[in-house]
Amino acid sequence: MLEKTIYPWQVTQWGQVWQSRKMDRLAHALLLVGINGLGKKHFALTLAGSVLCKNPNAAGYACGSCHACHLLAGNSHPDLVLIEPEESAKNISVDQIRELVRVVNETTMQGGFRVVVINPATAMNVNAANALLKTLEEPTPNTLIILISDHGMRLPATIMSRCQKIIFSKPSETEAIHWLQTAMPDKSFDFSLLLKLADGAPLKALALMDKDLFVLRQDLYQGLHLLGENQLDPLTLSAKWQDKEQLQIIDLLLSWLTDVLRFQLTQDQAILINQDYTVQIAKMSTVLLKKNLLALMDYLQQTRAMVLAAINLNKQLLLEDIFIRWATYVSR
Ligand SMILES: [Zn+2]
Repeated sequence: MLEKTIYPWQVTQWGQVWQSRKMDRLAHALLLVGINGLGKKHFALTLAGSVLCKNPNAAGYACGSCHACHLLAGNSHPDLVLIEPEESAKNISVDQIRELVRVVNETTMQGGFRVVVINPATAMNVNAANALLKTLEEPTPNTLIILISDHGMRLPATIMSRCQKIIFSKPSETEAIHWLQTAMPDKSFDFSLLLKLADGAPLKALALMDKDLFVLRQDLYQGLHLLGENQLDPLTLSAKWQDKEQLQIIDLLLSWLTDVLRFQLTQDQAILINQDYTVQIAKMSTVLLKKNLLALMDYLQQTRAMVLAAINLNKQLLLEDIFIRWATYVSR
């Protein structure tokens, strides 16, 4: 886990932390905030490398060849602590934080700094956040705590107020497309479309190039079209995607509906996100009444929240319910 450089759109943020470090003024706790897909974890690990490396270069990056760097590269540096939700869980538990607090109060193994990365900090429940609070209030010397958050607003104010915020923003479209073209050997993708689908976040766009997701999107949108034309029934449709991530399906449906709403409001195809489906979206916007559209979006948002909250839902029933409602609303 040795990261030796940042993404090109993180130069300002890197300058900020590196300047502070050179002047020995880096806060003991940082909060990295920005939308998903901007590489905040990567940034945190690059910073961890910089702090733990015995010989960082002039730009502040880890050297890659000292003992500390070797330990990092082998995922075995004892003074880098990465806290993430445990496998299959969606939350960071109070036990994980209590263990962290215990470790932070011990002397470091390598006699230097210790770096803690909590990703995402918003996954801490109230008890976990409270357990961390004391460590933030009474910082241990030579310890840097980096919290990562996709939704800065959802963290308790007591936590936020004790961290220095580093804000990440999207690169320009030109910069992002240039980066995607370099990162992706397969140039057959429509990078501009991908970036739109990814809300401008380059790493999210890169993940979308994952063929499976792209195929799912095409399949799903084609299915919706057939459903609208009464050529397919909701149960057949929901049976098709039993084994897929519910969240991916819900997000794809919401993306589609948001475009329908955009078109209803403006009649402008140019502002749609799903540029490869403008004809179908325009067509649906004439069929779907606005109050039904809003009700459907509302319902999907609520379902999304339930899935996120890890409420144990019957997958089959959930998808059936979604597509039955969809069919009711879109058929005339
Ligand atoms: Zn090094």
